[in-house]
Amino acid sequence: RYITIKSPLDDGEPKESDFEVKTSPLTLSVSAGSTDVIVKNLYVSIDPYQLNRMKRFSSSHKTINYAAAVAPGDEIDAYGVAKVVASGNPEFEKDDLVVGFISWGEYTVLKKGTMFRKFDPFGFPLSYQVGILGFSGLTAYGGFFEVCKPKKGEKVFVSAASGSVGNLVGQYAKLFGCYVVGCAGSKEKVTLLKGKLGFDDAFNYKEEPDLKSTLKKYFPDGIDIYFDNVGAEMLEAAVENMNTFGRVAVCGVISEYTDAGKRAAPNMLDVVYKRIKIQGFLAPDLMNVYFDFISTTVDHLRTGNLQAVEDISCGLESFPSAFIGLFRGHNTGKKMIKVADE
Ligand code: NDP
Repeated sequence: RYITIKSPLDDGEPKESDFEVKTSPLTLSVSAGSTDVIVKNLYVSIDPYQLNRMKRFSSSHKTINYAAAVAPGDEIDAYGVAKVVASGNPEFEKDDLVVGFISWGEYTVLKKGTMFRKFDPFGFPLSYQVGILGFSGLTAYGGFFEVCKPKKGEKVFVSAASGSVGNLVGQYAKLFGCYVVGCAGSKEKVTLLKGKLGFDDAFNYKEEPDLKSTLKKYFPDGIDIYFDNVGAEMLEAAVENMNTFGRVAVCGVISEYTDAGKRAAPNMLDVVYKRIKIQGFLAPDLMNVYFDFISTTVDHLRTGNLQAVEDISCGLESFPSAFIGLFRGHNTGKKMIKVADE
C-alpha cells in the first residue's frame, strides 16, 4: 500500500481529501537478472517542498520543478530509512539498512540510479538519519556555515525556528558563538527555543501584528544574518532590519507555498544601500560540507550539546495528516512517519 494524490492540487492548503491509499501487487523477491532492491520502509521524511511537486502548475514550473512533479497515482518519493527484503544488486543483502529516496508507502522497489546507500548509525536511533543526520541537518549546517558565512558574535534571526531545519540552525549558530533569536507559532514552541534549545530569545509571530517593529525590538542593533524558512512578510521585515553587509539565506518560503498570490517584496533600495546579500540554496548544493557536517554533528550529539527534536507519527494512514500539519504548525522538530518496526 502507498499514499498518492487523487488529482493535481490547487492553490491553498492541502486537505485529507486530496490523498488516497492505493495498492499495487508486489512480490518480495527479485527475478533473475534484475538489479532491483526491494526495501521495507521504516522511517519516511515529511517535507514542505513536496506540496510544490503536487500542485497543478508544477510540471510546467521550471524554477519550482527541481524535484519532478507528482502525478495522480504516482508513488511519492521521499527521504527515509528502510530495510532490504530482497536484492538483485550485489552491493546489498537482505536485512541491510539503507537511507535514501524511498516512498510514502510500505515498501519501495529501488531501481538502479535511485539515490540510496548503507549508513553508519553512529549508535543513534535510526530516525536520526532522516532528520538531524539527514537532509534537515545538512540543510541547516550547510545553509548556515556555507551560505551565511557567520562571524562569532553576529546577530542571527531564524524563522520557523522550532521546525526541522530552523531548530538546528539556531543550535549550530549558538554553538558557533552567535546571538540567536527565533520565531515560531505557539507559546510552547517559544518555550522550547528559549529553554532546551538555548536560543537567546524567541517570540510567537502570530501574536505580533507588526513584524517590522517586533524585529526592531528584538534586534535594536540590527540583524546580521537572517535564515529564512518562511518568505513573504517575514522576509520583508527582516530585510528592513538588516545591518550593512547582512546576509539572507533563503532556505524556503513555506508561507508562500499555500498562497500563490503571496510573494515577498523586500525593499530593494534597502538591499542596495545596505549591500545585503540574499541567496537561495538547495541542500544537494551543500555536499561539499557533508563530512564536516556529519563529524561535527555526531560530536555535538555525543557531548549533549546538540538536541535532536523529532515529531514522529505512526502508520501509513498518518501520511496525509502529518503532511497537512506542516502548513498549520502542528509539528515541532523533524516530522516523519514510522511506517514499520525494524
Ligand atoms: P518544518 O519542520 O519547519 O515545518 C514547517 C513549519 O513551518 C511549521 O511547523 C510551522 O511552524 C511553520 N509554518 C507553516 N506555515 C507557516 C506560515 N504560513 N508562516 C510562518 N510559518 C509557517 O519544515 P522544514 O524544517 O523541513 O522546512 C522549513 C523550510 O525549509 C521550508 O520552507 C522548506 O521548504 C525549506 N527547506 C529547504 C531545503 C533546501 O534544500 N533549500 C531543505 C529542507 C527544507 P510555526 O508553528 O512556527 O508556524
